Amino acid sequence: MHENLKKDTLCLHTGNEVDGQFDALSIPIYQVSTYLQDVNGNTKGYEYSRSGNPTRSALEHAFAALEHGQRGNAFASGLAAISAVFMLWNSGDHFVVSNVVYGGTYRLLSKILSRMGMTVSFVDTSDLNAVKAAINPHTKAVFVETPTNPMMAVSDLRAIAALCRERGCKLIVDNTFMTPYWQSPLLLGADIVVHSATKYLGGHSDVVAGLVVTATEELGEQVHFMQKAMGGILGPQDSWLLMRGIKTLGVRMEKHEQNARALAQWLTTLPQVEKVYYPGLPSHPQHQLAKEQASGFGGMISFEVVSPQVADHMLSRLQIISLAISLGGAESLICVPAKTTHASFEPELLRKLGISDRLVRFSVGIENVEDLKADIVQALS
Ligand SMILES: *Cc1c(COP(=O)(O)O)cnc(C)c1O
Repeated sequence: MHENLKKDTLCLHTGNEVDGQFDALSIPIYQVSTYLQDVNGNTKGYEYSRSGNPTRSALEHAFAALEHGQRGNAFASGLAAISAVFMLWNSGDHFVVSNVVYGGTYRLLSKILSRMGMTVSFVDTSDLNAVKAAINPHTKAVFVETPTNPMMAVSDLRAIAALCRERGCKLIVDNTFMTPYWQSPLLLGADIVVHSATKYLGGHSDVVAGLVVTATEELGEQVHFMQKAMGGILGPQDSWLLMRGIKTLGVRMEKHEQNARALAQWLTTLPQVEKVYYPGLPSHPQHQLAKEQASGFGGMISFEVVSPQVADHMLSRLQIISLAISLGGAESLICVPAKTTHASFEPELLRKLGISDRLVRFSVGIENVEDLKADIVQALS
């Protein structure tokens, strides 16, 4: 039954939304570290909350269902989740990674995993030939963020998944921007999906969390081993907050996108705006692909204003839209990635990728769109 439900229904009914003990319609927060055992070490399924906690398990099951995967694992942050996934591999292994990945993922790969002898080729994964050319006999996985942050380039997940299968490596997709509500990478052939659940899944800018879902039970068990062995687990309170957030993912994503579509189009008409990056605009280079592989375009927009001064002026004068990093909260957030989220990129690399200090990233919230327009108009004046 649950397999065939539409996404908005599935956000609420994943099959384990009722607590087994008292039929509570909200899974309780099991604020506990350890569990009774009998003398033979038998338990009711839990022995210590690093290896398993009923609240975290409920979240992990619910989210695995939403991503159409076999197994979910919840972590203390998106980066804890991404780190645990990369630890599945070894010194000498090679990865192909989107060249405009989240700044923290870039930092992890370039500053930490590089010390352990793992090597990475950063390529434009929206160019299938570039991915093809970068895969070598040591390549263990391709890691794709689509759309990319903050340039909004879209990669062809179906084609990259087929390529990975052919070349014997795994496909990992960071699905933070789209969420399972719009995009299901595992159904397109990916092996692992990672999330910063801090963003749309939590949805209220009140929790930091990460999730991993795998296409197979075997991979899920390996990720679970990393979770237990390295210990970056999500606590019960935050697991509960995340489950509460996910219940309303459908309505929130619909509204985020409705606002983003309207604003992206409207921004192109402003004289102070030079270019708008949004996959939902017909002018976006991968608009057709975005339409085919996802059921929506999401709530993230990037745009270039005419000068860095105009960007600073606008950001310092906005009243409803908050200047803050992060994204995906119900409230609108805005930032200049070159100075904030992507400050860990070398200046040369930022230039090459087109992330200038007049590029603004806008996480469109669920406010009334007319109020958002009015705020931008007054801030630009
Ligand atoms: C925020 C973010 C991350 C990192 O997640 P944290 O929860 O901040 O650790 C990874 N990928 C993307 C796309 C993000 O936006």
